Amino acid sequence: MKYLGPVAWLLGVLVVPVTSYAATETKPAAQSDAADPRYNPDLTDLYASPEAWTASHDRTVAAAGKLLDYKGTLGNSASAMLAALSAMSAVREETARLTVYAIVVRDMDVRVPSGQERMQLATALGTVYSSDTAWVAPEVLAIGADKVASFLKQSPELAHRFGFFLNNILRSAPHTLSAESEGVMAAASDVLQQPDSIFSQLANGELPYPTVTLSNGQAVRLDEPAYEKYRQAPNRADRKLVFDTFWGTWGKFESTFGQTLATQVMGEKFDAGVRHYSSALEDALFGDNMPEAVYRQVVGQAEAGLPTVYRYLKLRKKQLGVTDDLRYYDVYPSMFPLEHPLHIDVPDAERITAEVTAVYGPEYAAALRRGFAGRWMDVLPRQGKAPGAYMAGSAYAVHPYLHFNHNYDYQALSTFAHEWGHAVHTLLATKAQPYETAEYSTFIAETASMSNEMLLEDYMVAHAKTKNEKLFYLGEGLESIRGGFFRQAMFATFQLAIHEELEHGNALSGKRMTEIYCGLLKKYYGDAEGVTKINPEYCVEWAFIPHFYYGFYVWQYATSIAGAAQFTAAIENSTPGTRDRFIAMLKAGGSDYPYELYKKAGVDMATPVAYQALIARMNHLLDQIEALQAQN
Ligand SMILES: [Zn+2]
Repeated sequence: MKYLGPVAWLLGVLVVPVTSYAATETKPAAQSDAADPRYNPDLTDLYASPEAWTASHDRTVAAAGKLLDYKGTLGNSASAMLAALSAMSAVREETARLTVYAIVVRDMDVRVPSGQERMQLATALGTVYSSDTAWVAPEVLAIGADKVASFLKQSPELAHRFGFFLNNILRSAPHTLSAESEGVMAAASDVLQQPDSIFSQLANGELPYPTVTLSNGQAVRLDEPAYEKYRQAPNRADRKLVFDTFWGTWGKFESTFGQTLATQVMGEKFDAGVRHYSSALEDALFGDNMPEAVYRQVVGQAEAGLPTVYRYLKLRKKQLGVTDDLRYYDVYPSMFPLEHPLHIDVPDAERITAEVTAVYGPEYAAALRRGFAGRWMDVLPRQGKAPGAYMAGSAYAVHPYLHFNHNYDYQALSTFAHEWGHAVHTLLATKAQPYETAEYSTFIAETASMSNEMLLEDYMVAHAKTKNEKLFYLGEGLESIRGGFFRQAMFATFQLAIHEELEHGNALSGKRMTEIYCGLLKKYYGDAEGVTKINPEYCVEWAFIPHFYYGFYVWQYATSIAGAAQFTAAIENSTPGTRDRFIAMLKAGGSDYPYELYKKAGVDMATPVAYQALIARMNHLLDQIEALQAQN
């Protein structure tokens, strides 16, 4: 689950970071896996050769230029509107296909310059498409709702393919400005994106990461990947050293990061003000037509669930053998480390994913079989290959491509099931929807993948051979709820708080952000309740979170995992109709707003039910651990 920047809308690409203390060494690939052609993607499904890619690229650049000829024709008739929008769709679809090819090839070996150049060409084409079609929304608004409605009535094809798109433009009328003002906003957009650039420059380039010596004598330069690895160290003194040193470094730049993030928030406030929104949050939620009540539920229900987090942290303290106060640096090491590391090869990962998702029924199973039979995946790690994992699903007429760095541990299996959740979602939506409404929102996307992760956790607990193995999977399940829901909900609460500071006319400094964040850390980890003692020097953690530069975004991780908990519980309990409604939601793609699609599937994210299902799941995991431990 990682944001990929401005091209993400085009790609439907989602990334899961793979960071596990026990499994960061790249193990040699099993001979059979490396040799299997199914684990290397077949690019000829997209283009017969690199030359064919270039030829299509050149044709598409020319076709994009011709889209300007349609300017002023949309209001002529229903068929003129259909002809213009169809021409745009064709260019957009081919641009997406060209981009998927460019991404897959680049990521097979990032060291090859031609791969990077092709990616730049694809990105530039996306920009050309956007600017050559920027006139469409103003022209539709000028035509007006009545005439658009009569066109939709006259042409069933226009209604089927473009009805949702057109009505969505009409909905934005109150927030669309005059041509001159829109021009000013477009010109300002580069400036408004600078906080993210400054943050990245400092965090990834210039921050002087220090070197520490761990208890085993190993010297480690504590950059971000090293921090994420060594904060899981089994030795408590090592973890404390890692936290003290890492956050000590960030603390020295509290004011600079504060100014940078405050500028980001000011930019969002500026956009909201100019476009007649009452707040930056309303502005951010408008695109998905998402009720603000959903955001408020995330914040409120996470707080309501904190007693369960405290229950988990008390278990963690006991498990780690901490006899004084539990600290923030005790959150990451595994509570139930495996005695023998798992070795799950790719055919096993396929078999388990198929068994786990069998509960979704025959249509899902058939889509998964089709995927496994094709050459859609780049599975194994090798030199030069891009890190991480994702599914690239935007080549509508072809099929999804998947990128992994399978390292045979449980995290790798979970990632495998997660990304195939995205791939099957894409297959079902593609089959059921025309191109124009196949692409689904992030809000729905992560539900399809998180449900698979939960079904997998439950399957692994049920099939574990030893008590220790069961405890390991249960512990992983607890951590995924803490990290996937409570941590993201805490971020969402922080983001809302810093926006409200500015919107209420208060000053926003790094020091003030640290104060707000400290209050939230203490609340979420139970400082006053005696559960965890929060060291104030760790409260600069907000400065390290890149997602705060993407607008209101992280909260969708929290809703996805909560929605997945409600679906998973109902599907596992064979609640009548749930499975079919879930599959129908996946097939609906982007044919309606995500909140509405959820509601049709029986889950209202503006009510507490889904969040309560997630807390119930967490308590159930804790109950199972206690029951297993009581067996001695
Ligand atoms: Zn995902």
